[in-house]
Amino acid sequence: MYHEQRGHITLVTGPMFSGKTTELLRLHGRQQLAGKRCVLVKYAKDTRYDENLIATHDKHKSLSNTIKANELQEVYGEMFDEAVDVVAIDEGQFFSDLADTCERLMRARKIVIVAALNARFDRKAFEQVALLQPNANEITLLTAVCDCGENAIFTHRKSAATEEELIGGKEVYKACCRECYYKAESEMHDGENIYPKKMVDDFFMTSTRLHISPEKKPRLDGRPLSPRTASKNGH
Ligand SMILES: [Zn+2]
Repeated sequence: MYHEQRGHITLVTGPMFSGKTTELLRLHGRQQLAGKRCVLVKYAKDTRYDENLIATHDKHKSLSNTIKANELQEVYGEMFDEAVDVVAIDEGQFFSDLADTCERLMRARKIVIVAALNARFDRKAFEQVALLQPNANEITLLTAVCDCGENAIFTHRKSAATEEELIGGKEVYKACCRECYYKAESEMHDGENIYPKKMVDDFFMTSTRLHISPEKKPRLDGRPLSPRTASKNGH
């Protein structure tokens, strides 16, 4: 019995150097083997892995089409083409219209595979990736390997630059486990508290919105909670 294709989103996420693009290409390659018509979208300003992508696609060139865009809207013609079954998007965090485009692709019953960073260098969310997550059918979190041998879940930026989009490789970024991330951040800030007050405030602003009692905030100076607060918590 013939089933009409349904919309499906797979999000492949993780820090830098965790093999997200490799996994994206593996999933994309399987769809090509299944005879699906695929479009692979790359971020235009990211020219690091050009050669790899072209090499990977040599075998199935007839079924695949690699296109570059700064915003996904620029390539709607290719993505929403009726003949296209699968849309694979690399470096999804860089597209300002990622979440909205994926929803439109679902309504057009496309299969979508997105590779995107799990967090910014400061462990905050990329807005578009955060918006996409609740709409995904599958989420795969890949890890890289930290220098210490642990699984690396964060991306540490070696430079003090703070702009969100700074494209680079191992000269700028390093994948770290939690302990090594704290250590690297602390060293970068001359040993100063790695939880600057603002970061804690940002976190608890979120908690307040989630109706978590402000009394459960840990003290910033590391001292135990006051007896009044402690008794309220039943201790
Ligand atoms: Zn480590």
